[in-house]
Amino acid sequence: MLNIETDADLSELNSFALAARAEFFVRVRSEAELVAACHWAEERKLPLLLLGGGSNLVLAAQVPGLVIQVDLRGWTVETTGEAQVSVTIGAGNNWHATVQRALDEGLFGLENLALIPGTVGAAPVQNIGAYGVEIGDLLESIRCFDREQRSWRELSKAQCQFGYRDSLFKRYPGRFLISWVRLRLSRNFSANFRYAALQQALQDQGVDTPSPQQLFDAVCQVRRAKLPDPKQLGNAGSFFKNPVVTREKYLQLAQAYPQMPAYSDPHGMKLAAGWLIEQAGLKGFTQGCVGVHRLQALVLVNYGGAQRQDIEALAAKVRSEVETKFGVCLEQEPIAYP
Ligand code: FAD
Ligand code: NAP
Repeated sequence: MLNIETDADLSELNSFALAARAEFFVRVRSEAELVAACHWAEERKLPLLLLGGGSNLVLAAQVPGLVIQVDLRGWTVETTGEAQVSVTIGAGNNWHATVQRALDEGLFGLENLALIPGTVGAAPVQNIGAYGVEIGDLLESIRCFDREQRSWRELSKAQCQFGYRDSLFKRYPGRFLISWVRLRLSRNFSANFRYAALQQALQDQGVDTPSPQQLFDAVCQVRRAKLPDPKQLGNAGSFFKNPVVTREKYLQLAQAYPQMPAYSDPHGMKLAAGWLIEQAGLKGFTQGCVGVHRLQALVLVNYGGAQRQDIEALAAKVRSEVETKFGVCLEQEPIAYP
């Protein structure tokens, strides 16, 4: 039985803490409820938004149609090789709690993705990534209801078409309703700490070869030192993707800014959007009730009472100043809805 609410307050269900209300809202706890909610909206020709933790969304004040919060649980481990395991995890599980549980059970691979807010079901949508690891590297398959084909499907990693903070699911918003995610983890641990901030944190503790727990702790420590906690200061993490530019453009910029960080990428050179924003003089910049975070310029924050247009006006200023100074276009990462 669906418990559909009307005019529901979403301000505490999005990490930006934007004032937002849903025309209709329902929380679903099974695949049957998920499909029933979807049919309920379709019968009424209403738009539909799947909501996880609301940590990668920029919501309008009035969200039309039905918002479905996915609260499907479950955790099953299957041994598939000497050290390999497949872990099937319900879409509604909290992501960080999942990383913690895997660590506690001696299943490795997720340590670099600690402390990312949100749910398991949304993680493949954005192909969440941090410190050189992406969920796409570890994903075996996902189960979803395909609203176009009107059937449940199991999609392989290749079918998910993962890219940099991108996937099939971002390209077809609202079509695939993910109910569980299957990850391939290992009982053997291999540490990945090539990012400078992680190396530094481990070095400061005198650790040369980190254990899984030490790597997990270092990731949490580095993130806590730099990123605002959405419970205290509304934000949606990085507001812009790191731009990838051609080699020619990179060489031109590197000549003018020899200290500019850049990393080679399959499609060119990846620049650090946070560095560009900082160099444009906007780190810590405040505009009314919103601003650019004072410790991490890639994060826009809501000091209280902001609506989507406040964030959009600030984002437009940031984009315009970076484009004027560097000739580089910044692309928004969180999804604006509707
Ligand atoms: P939501 O914001 O609720 O939804 C995001 C999108 O996924 C929406 O389009 C929604 O419709 C869709 N969706 C949600 N659930 C489902 C489902 N079950 N089936 C189909 N579609 C669904 N991201 C990174 O990649 N790396 C980081 O290091 C990182 N750090 C962050 C730090 C902070 C402080 C914050 C606030 C955000 C950060 N993010 C990061 C962004 C965000 O945490 C991730 O994108 C996360 O995966 C979003 O999960 P969510 O459950 O909150 O999704
Ligand atoms: P950082 O370590 O200061 O690095 C700045 C940027 O340079 C990063 O965004 C990263 O790109 C890139 N980079 C750094 N070292 C690299 C290396 N060795 N190889 C390739 N690229 C490198 O970044 P940060 O802001 O503190 O974030 C740390 C990690 O958490 C990053 O991976 C970042 O993506 C992730 N994060 C994401 C969000 C989000 O909302 N999407 C929010 C917070 C943190 P990449 O982004 O490609 O890794």
